[in-house]
Amino acid sequence: MIPTPSDSLLAELEDIYKDLHANPELSMQEQRTAGVAGAWLERCGYEVTAGIGRTGVVGVLRNGDGATVLLRADMDALPVTEATGLAYASHATGVDRFGAKGGVAHACGHDMHVAWLMGAARLLAENKDAWRGTVIALFQPGEETGEGAHAMIADGLVQRLPRPDIVFGQHVVPAPAGVIGWRAGTVMAASDSWEVTLFGRGAHGSMPQKSIDPVVMAAATVMRLQGVVSREVAMSDAAVVSVGALQAGSTENVIPDHALLRLNVRSFNAEVRARVLAAIRRIVAAEAAASGAPKPPDITVLGEHPLTRNDAAATDKVRQAFERQFGQDRVQQVEPSSASEDFGLLGAAWGVPSVFWFVGGTDPDRFTAAMAAGTVDELPVNHAPDFAPVIHPTMNAGITAMLTAAGAWFGMETSGS
Ligand code: ZN
Ligand code: ZN
Repeated sequence: MIPTPSDSLLAELEDIYKDLHANPELSMQEQRTAGVAGAWLERCGYEVTAGIGRTGVVGVLRNGDGATVLLRADMDALPVTEATGLAYASHATGVDRFGAKGGVAHACGHDMHVAWLMGAARLLAENKDAWRGTVIALFQPGEETGEGAHAMIADGLVQRLPRPDIVFGQHVVPAPAGVIGWRAGTVMAASDSWEVTLFGRGAHGSMPQKSIDPVVMAAATVMRLQGVVSREVAMSDAAVVSVGALQAGSTENVIPDHALLRLNVRSFNAEVRARVLAAIRRIVAAEAAASGAPKPPDITVLGEHPLTRNDAAATDKVRQAFERQFGQDRVQQVEPSSASEDFGLLGAAWGVPSVFWFVGGTDPDRFTAAMAAGTVDELPVNHAPDFAPVIHPTMNAGITAMLTAAGAWFGMETSGS
């Protein structure tokens, strides 16, 4: 049988979750969180390696012959000032990778992911009679910036760990708490993040004829970029181009000499991705030329997330186990998400299949009321300052989902089988 978290374990994990929530750490700075996870794994009897890819921490528990299953949780928080009003809300500040100081919050729910994996790791250690094989509990840094999986792989992850047969990951999302969302094949978009610097010529604000105004250049560029998806991507395809940062100048009577855009692209296939990225390059260069820029724009790649693709056969096996464990009502097929992950790099590093699924974290009553009122799109979504899952039943659902998926490889029976 799949082990069930006891009330006392759930209470312990609730305290840990609240502590992690109140003490979030930005990408690649997750020392404290990694310390909490690593100490827990050691107490559970795992062989622990810390500091893989800076702050990554991995525990291995060998329990006889059988499959090797890798369970992954990401640990990082976001440069967001929390506005949930929760008693355990974050008041932390930090310096992000651009050198900007500001609020830090677990606005994507990775603190819940850490608590889920801690719970699953403990229950596997406490119930070794119920399964056979090897479990790898992997706590990954830097998912949000696309750095963490790369960093762990570059630091010898593949050589340092047993080769898994399967890699699993999960994410909390704004769906009714406790509901599991699955999909075979492409489940999440590829993401490309760029920083574009546009060059102009600074001058007195009263003498625009002496300037090449990068503010106007940037504004025209942002507006023109809105046409990429609407005019250059087919109706049957999908893509997103969002300019998330637009910075130029600091006062009203000085025309600055440069402007900066940070933009993000999401796509579901390689052809659309190539087409959109080429269009952005073309437009950025052409708008600069149209303004008479003294030199072409600089484009720096800030990060890339690959497509997240779930192995079809493995997803089917996981889905069947979920349906037996949770009942069909709680297990739903979802559309591909425009969100992105670097999770796929882990399975790819070994050339083994992987499966990623979603766990709802929104208060079910609140969700039902929003459905009735037609306001589901107004519910807090990942990365919003007011996003935070309800702890129960989200906690139990994520732990049980991990154990159920692992159990399908470890020969553990679900409650319905
Ligand atoms: Zn996120
Ligand atoms: Zn996330």
